[in-house]
Amino acid sequence: MIRFKDLLDAVYENNPKADLELLEEVYRFAEDLHKGQFRKSGEPYIIHPLSVALILAELGMDEKAVAAGLLHDVAEDTRCKQNCLENNFGEEVTFLVNGVTKLNKLECNSKEEQQLESYRKMFLSMAEDVRVVMIKLADRLHNMRTLKYQSPEKQRAISQETLEIYAPIANRLGISKVKWELEDLCLRYLEPEKFYELVERISMKRDEREEYIQEIIRKLHQELDKVGIDAEISGRPKHFFSIYNKMKKQNKDLDELYDLIAVRLLVDSVKDCYAALGIVHTLWRPIPMRFKDYIAMPKPNMYQSLHTTVIGPQGDPFEIQIRTYEMHHTAEYGIAAHWIYKESGGSEISKDSTQLSWLEQIKEMQSEANDNKEFLNSVKIDLFSDTVFVFSPKGEVYELTAGSSPLDFAYKVHTGVGNSCVGAKVNKRIVPLDYQLKNGDIVEILTSKQAKPSLDWVNLCKTSQARNKIRQWFKKEGREENKLRGKDLLESELRKRDMDFSCLSKPDNLVELAQRMGYSSWEDVYVGLGNGTLTVLQVANKLQDEYQKNHPVADTVESLLASKANKEIHRKNAVSGGSSEGVIVDGFDGVPIRFAHCCKPLPGDGIIGYITRGRGVTIHHQDCPNIRGAIEKEPDRFVAAAWDQNNGSVYQVEVFVIAIDRPKITPEVMALINDSKVHITAITSRVKEGKTYMHISIEVHNLDQVIVMIDKIKSISDVLEVKRTIAD
Ligand code: MN
Repeated sequence: MIRFKDLLDAVYENNPKADLELLEEVYRFAEDLHKGQFRKSGEPYIIHPLSVALILAELGMDEKAVAAGLLHDVAEDTRCKQNCLENNFGEEVTFLVNGVTKLNKLECNSKEEQQLESYRKMFLSMAEDVRVVMIKLADRLHNMRTLKYQSPEKQRAISQETLEIYAPIANRLGISKVKWELEDLCLRYLEPEKFYELVERISMKRDEREEYIQEIIRKLHQELDKVGIDAEISGRPKHFFSIYNKMKKQNKDLDELYDLIAVRLLVDSVKDCYAALGIVHTLWRPIPMRFKDYIAMPKPNMYQSLHTTVIGPQGDPFEIQIRTYEMHHTAEYGIAAHWIYKESGGSEISKDSTQLSWLEQIKEMQSEANDNKEFLNSVKIDLFSDTVFVFSPKGEVYELTAGSSPLDFAYKVHTGVGNSCVGAKVNKRIVPLDYQLKNGDIVEILTSKQAKPSLDWVNLCKTSQARNKIRQWFKKEGREENKLRGKDLLESELRKRDMDFSCLSKPDNLVELAQRMGYSSWEDVYVGLGNGTLTVLQVANKLQDEYQKNHPVADTVESLLASKANKEIHRKNAVSGGSSEGVIVDGFDGVPIRFAHCCKPLPGDGIIGYITRGRGVTIHHQDCPNIRGAIEKEPDRFVAAAWDQNNGSVYQVEVFVIAIDRPKITPEVMALINDSKVHITAITSRVKEGKTYMHISIEVHNLDQVIVMIDKIKSISDVLEVKRTIAD
């Protein structure tokens, strides 16, 4: 059982100058008021505020916040008047206690209204003093820890609210310690069967996994010692909720998820982070696209770390996180890590944590407003940079991507609501469907049973969830219509050409032809024609070619690239202004386009499209050795392609570096690339006969960027050769 002394120890540990006498007074006061009260667990009530205060102390909060944690439930007691708190413990503590209490004690007409108002107040109080929310989080955490004493209905309701409101707040404030615990507890009550199954299955494999991790850690220490890097290395299982989420999102079983564990490396400096990364990638092969540099690009909640996934010694992939001790502290404690104690005795959030400037902004806005209502109307709850919180008329909270429209909201509520949407009201006023939702908006969707989605809604939606649902509707409902329209279009074109469609080709030939155009059946070709992703000319041309199959024309790359079609693509590009993949393939709008992994072409390179069987078009570098042979054998599977100059896409490219082997040459190259704001997705480095050979995958927008990068790397001393690799 927790004792008051534990609390004093925890406070003292973080801040030896803390006013422990104040805490003793506060504790006696609270204990006295709660005397005779018991929690559902049967424990004396004081255990709850004491535990809340301890959580706050462990998060490194100051004694005022800890005191308010001890007092957070006394204000509901009628024996405790406001001036009684203020007289005893001062203005600041009283403000914090009231901040938390007000959230529970609102005079509202309905329960929905109360919930709505309550969240609103909480978000606002966060701007006023972030400690209010910290107390609220600590309160919720202890309630979640002791949730088993509540009724099953309450367990579900409280967990649901925690998952929707409190865990995201903890995440936004960067306090992952609290976020993870809350999420795991929520899962336990919301999906008990799945939770306990996960716990059991994961613990079953614990021993063998432990051994595996120890092997990895030993190897890492050995290699890091060689270059003189001190590191604290640990292996940790991932949290149940994040595993559960992954299984749900990727629709996979536990056995199919490979990175159940993460190895964490803590080092002294940023330089050591990159050096250690180089060593990790030398030891084990990195999985492309899994490298994330949150040091160069911190998350909005201040999180910094390097993440990479590599193939481990037994062939199992695992994730490695590399960061400094300081970054690690911020990763766990978030905003609380940036708490500084001032000489005068007060405390505040460090000013250099600029990510939290929104707190200042909101305070400013409030001082400019005449009254609270005006303030609410003008700024709402503009707290979160990348998401907005909106409310249904019933007061349910929905989190949406910033820039979302009422349609995003409608599809988030329910697919049926989205599909039957005819209009929307925000704060009781009719708004256009392209209206951008703001924090605190109350959104009402107007529906009609006769309504149907419109294809241009796709452009009005910000979330891919809504877009996919609209596209799905069109795929399903619009398919039959498009098929008939496509068939009509093609038949009339063939009549123009005096071709008899029925005797032209046998059904199996048609399937093959469809596959060559990137579709799985001939029916799909009709649908593509009907909805405009294929043009009737290109399909008719293909059929004509099929007809003249005995007389193939052996096009070469050069003639294809110089063809009229290619020039037309450029012209079309200038007018249309962009395709999603960054390239335009002659006559293949809407067909999936992928970039060849062998040669990784970049804007500026000469390129050519290769029509795969059923998987769309693959774009190769015109000099790619892998396609040379195929061009002669199957010329009709090649198609002219050109870059879409207006596209902001990024491309993978591999750079090969040879340097004289010397300490930290690899980290130096990585740091240079990193400083140029170029994203590294993978790196391998090998030493052979006194030379270091590095293969570095980077993400760039165009060819020029690579040329500049290569020149820069060449300027590093001891670098002998740098070139881009096309096919290996
Ligand atoms: Mn409480």
